[in-house]
Amino acid sequence: MYIVSACLAGVKCKYNAKDNYDPELHKFLSREKVQLVCPEQLGGLTTPRPPAEIVGGSGEEVLSGKARVLTREGIDVTENFVRGAGETLRIAQLLGAKGAILKEGSPSCGSSLIYDGTFRGVKQPGQGVTASLLRKEGLKVYSENNFLENIKEKKGD
Ligand code: SF4
Repeated sequence: MYIVSACLAGVKCKYNAKDNYDPELHKFLSREKVQLVCPEQLGGLTTPRPPAEIVGGSGEEVLSGKARVLTREGIDVTENFVRGAGETLRIAQLLGAKGAILKEGSPSCGSSLIYDGTFRGVKQPGQGVTASLLRKEGLKVYSENNFLENIKEKKGD
């Protein structure tokens, strides 16, 4: 069983009330048991909502209190992001998830890239708050770009 970003499956839970539907992932969803989650909604944010970026670091620094998650207007939504990460971890643990497939680039779900905090559409290496917490607790985290090779490799072990 895998935790999957709901927007990748077609749920319109993005900040702009759209989705990130991924056809390759859709095939996977029909074969595997998955639990769809949207950490930002689980953290109490509305849809639609203002876009937010991590300022001053990556997901790890947000979890350790050294960086914040802010909207373009400077509203601090760190608490929502941390709560959503915690609830996603709780779901993963309750269901005994093997890992997670999360949307790349998101300040919650990004597993190798996040926006740089300037709201100029620039990505930099780093992980989102939820991806960071899941990894810290020992879960494997993949994105829509690399889940297939990693999960296949694992099955072939
Ligand atoms: Fe998708 Fe994750 Fe953003 Fe929710 S928090 S819209 S699941 S990328």
